[in-house]
Amino acid sequence: MTISMPLPNKEVLARRAGIVAAMREIVPGEGVVDATNEMRVFETDALTAYRQLPLVVVLPDTVDQVAAVLKYCHANDIPVVPRGSGTSLSGGALPLEDGVLLVLSRFNRVLDVDFENRCAVVQPGVTNLGITRAVEHAGFYYAPDPSSQIACSIGGNIAENSGGVHCLKYGLTTNNVLGLEFVTVEGEVVRLGGKHLDSEGYDLLGLMTGSEGLLGVVTEVTVRILQAPETARAVLIGFPTSEQAGAAVAAIIAQGIIPGGMEMMDRPAIRAAEDFVHAGYPLDVEALLIVELDGPKAEVDYLLGAVEDIARANGATTARVSTSDEERARFWAGRKAAFPAVGRISPDYLCMDGTIPRKELPRVLAGMKQLSEHYRLAVANVFHAGDGNLHPLILYDASRDDELQRAEDFGADILRLCVEVGGVLTGEHGVGIEKRDLMPEMFSEDDLRHQQRIKCAFDDKHLLNPGKVFPVLHRCAELGRMHVHRGQVPFPDLPRF
Ligand SMILES: Cc1cc2nc3c(=O)[nH]c(=O)nc-3n(C[C@H](O)[C@H](O)[C@H](O)COP(=O)(O)OP(=O)(O)OC[C@H]3O[C@@H](n4cnc5c(N)ncnc54)[C@H](O)[C@@H]3O)c2cc1C
Repeated sequence: MTISMPLPNKEVLARRAGIVAAMREIVPGEGVVDATNEMRVFETDALTAYRQLPLVVVLPDTVDQVAAVLKYCHANDIPVVPRGSGTSLSGGALPLEDGVLLVLSRFNRVLDVDFENRCAVVQPGVTNLGITRAVEHAGFYYAPDPSSQIACSIGGNIAENSGGVHCLKYGLTTNNVLGLEFVTVEGEVVRLGGKHLDSEGYDLLGLMTGSEGLLGVVTEVTVRILQAPETARAVLIGFPTSEQAGAAVAAIIAQGIIPGGMEMMDRPAIRAAEDFVHAGYPLDVEALLIVELDGPKAEVDYLLGAVEDIARANGATTARVSTSDEERARFWAGRKAAFPAVGRISPDYLCMDGTIPRKELPRVLAGMKQLSEHYRLAVANVFHAGDGNLHPLILYDASRDDELQRAEDFGADILRLCVEVGGVLTGEHGVGIEKRDLMPEMFSEDDLRHQQRIKCAFDDKHLLNPGKVFPVLHRCAELGRMHVHRGQVPFPDLPRF
């Protein structure tokens, strides 16, 4: 374990029994979990290399309870880690030894479906797919579709600004949220936006979306729902090299075609997914594109032809168009199961999440190949190709010597490469703890200071999800005196992590 967390406050640990009793008063019944064995299920999220039991787990089911928990923790200087379904790949929901883990999974009701206004109001613990399930009978769906959609919560999606295969055309979470209710660390309930298009005042809705549980706890979400397209068809296109597939992606977009989804997988990912799901993927290619076109039938037919022509001009050797909705779903099932599929061929993997300008794909792929040799670790690649969002999966075995360390160093170098070619550290999985210490690679001292000023405006005691996102924990009063350069901070005598 190479990423360190804030040292627990011994004074808070000493008050544990009193804190648990206070939580039980606020959330009666079975909503407080403090037995070690029962808390084990919460000790990690999907960044499973990191584990930590929380001080106590609290599962409120009313907004008043959330507000009371936060108010108590604020008054008593107790850190709080919000948690949805615990599928974060960046360690965003990793508990703290001296912190309350505030789990929102009991907030699982769809409150209102408003077809006339094309929106749904839901509680934050509703799963992403649960929203589509609630509206599909009338031909509607919720567009952002992370591969974890069967499990991840909409509250977690808001916190991570999650994406999915359909975000190329329909936007990320931030483009599909109309309103939020959240509770501040001091226990104040705030409402932003609503069913209408634009929210008043500063774009606080935009600020909250992607704030990784550092600014407030989301307790209600209003999302846009879309009418399902008349037709949707997907085509599997195989290429002899990833470079050719990357060039085809750039050419499709350059032609002005915005597919409903455009994903790419390399040979190891194709094989793992095919073995797992039997999606019908070709096994004799180095790279596979899955391109979905949706809209009126005539348009879809025309665009399928255009995409195939572009792909062939870029060296595609195979192209197979789905002939039914079942087949299209099967094509996607392979891609959506790519992470668990890779989990079957390697004891452990680290899933990276950098984003690059599309045209840099060949350069980054070549760089990744060299790094793979340097670190002696294999990598399987899955991309949201249309968005330039890479998900290299670094395969390692945590039980062997220094493999976790090598995997983390390899991952850090991939992200550095993404930044070097003009990209960013994260596309959709968030910074969490995973990319926290790489923030100075991307942001200047000024950038980080301004970001932390925003954090201080919401949470001046740094009690909400401390140890995540920002590479240095410090008191808000220090702002302006802090110089962070490539992770090296002055005032090393101050307690840091
Ligand atoms: C197999 C697999 C595939 C995945 N595929 C994708 C993908 O395609 N696209 C993608 O974007 N992500 C993907 N993810 C990552 C993950 O599912 C998303 O980040 C998701 O949004 C996390 O939701 P969650 O409910 O599990 O949140 P958690 O993991 O519980 O928490 C994530 C973060 O959100 C905060 N949070 C949670 N709920 C709240 C709340 N109510 N208020 C304030 N903060 C809150 C937490 O503090 C934490 O920082 C995948 C994960 C897995 C395991």
